[in-house]
Amino acid sequence: MQVFAKNDPRLDNKKTKTYLLPGFIDAHCHILPSGLDLLKCNLRTCTSKDEVLEKVADEFGNHNKEGWFHATQYDQTKFEGAHHITRHDLDKISDSTPILLRHSNGHASVANSAALRAAGVTRETPDPEGGEFVRDAAGEPNGVLLEKAHEFVTSSAPAPTTEQMVEAILRAGESMSSFGITTATDMMTGRWNLAQELEAYRLASERGCKIRLRLYVQWADVLSSRAIDPALFEELQSAMDPTKCKVLGLKVFADGAIGSATAAIKSKFLTTGGQGQLIYPEEKLAEIIAKIDAAGYSCAVHTIGDYSTDLVMDAYEKTDDPKRHRIEHAMILSEAQIERMARLGSHLTVQPEFLMRFGHAYRVQLEPEIAANLKPVRSLLDAGIPLSFNSDRPIVPGNPWDGIAAAIQRPEGFNPAENITLEEAIGLYTHGGAQANFEPEFVGKLEPGFAADHQVYNEKPHPGATPSAVFMDGKLVQGSTD
Ligand SMILES: [Zn+2]
Repeated sequence: MQVFAKNDPRLDNKKTKTYLLPGFIDAHCHILPSGLDLLKCNLRTCTSKDEVLEKVADEFGNHNKEGWFHATQYDQTKFEGAHHITRHDLDKISDSTPILLRHSNGHASVANSAALRAAGVTRETPDPEGGEFVRDAAGEPNGVLLEKAHEFVTSSAPAPTTEQMVEAILRAGESMSSFGITTATDMMTGRWNLAQELEAYRLASERGCKIRLRLYVQWADVLSSRAIDPALFEELQSAMDPTKCKVLGLKVFADGAIGSATAAIKSKFLTTGGQGQLIYPEEKLAEIIAKIDAAGYSCAVHTIGDYSTDLVMDAYEKTDDPKRHRIEHAMILSEAQIERMARLGSHLTVQPEFLMRFGHAYRVQLEPEIAANLKPVRSLLDAGIPLSFNSDRPIVPGNPWDGIAAAIQRPEGFNPAENITLEEAIGLYTHGGAQANFEPEFVGKLEPGFAADHQVYNEKPHPGATPSAVFMDGKLVQGSTD
């Protein structure tokens, strides 16, 4: 068994100094972007407009001015009044170098005028389907970009080279391994160039990446008009050592996020009065999921709101084996939806750390009753839904112990009846992740026949603890055993 039982004498014997856990498995995160973000301006601690602008101006001073200036973890819900920064604020820092502040939820950003120009956005540019260039009273884009509009401008920034990608993946692996993570799943491979990214992941695994790499590829890179050549896709995958690096399936987005009022919900967002937005019209989403299923891939759908989650379950219900497919997030769920999800048997990935990091945003956006019952893990477990815990880094720092802490004692304002035990939480961040990755017989447990991925603690493992050593495939990758 991977976790010591509560009454296991080893946990209480003061003379026993060493505790062993399976390596953590982060089955929903963004590996390459995490590695790239480790080098960007981070706005996480900024709680006012002025603080954001000060920090950006400060770090912009050290920027080479050639490429784009990127900042991450922008979050207007922490400001008084929750009003966004606009391009006019950023233009005071530079009106010639593109500046882009990415929202902490990854679904929105603020661009300065140079970034809008570089992306070719003018007042005549129509809003893309499933996105919005927020405009001022005169109809001019004010720099705030939601969903597909955010993706559109972001994708105009120069892409990293293959070598920069490999270095970023190795950097992300190093950082995750320091938290005791031994396997991670990237949930959006192909955001720049699928062939190049698959190559970069393979190269990183061959150069000793400290985590096993699992990949969910953007569906459109494989099954739409802009798809990769199937023979090349096959070739890139067969060059990988599947124990170290492999493609698990295809990823689809059904809706947005709560912080930016873009999740598709049945109630209304308190800030906008709206119900969020679907990324694809209902029939199109059903068509995409059916296509992925028919092509034999596992499908993973991002759905935050209760409205979009119904649509995903409708589509999964029509497949031969819903257990092959995954549901990502499903943060707002009614009792009836929980029952239905349990009947389907699709795996659900849950990010408990969100409650700790975005509680303020949830309360700004949602009715108190709905906010309090987000991510009802106790109910999900009791209903028998196959679950895993994961981080979704880089939108949160992603130390698994933070997620575990938020699940065993939900932060103030979240229904404590949904708390689970420490043992359950560790299980969800270890063999739960192995289930999410469809390899429950390979990693996630300390048992004969499993890969030797484990973490060593010199004290009883608990939130806040740091592993003294981490092993991947029997090799020491972090810390020491002295
Ligand atoms: Zn994600």
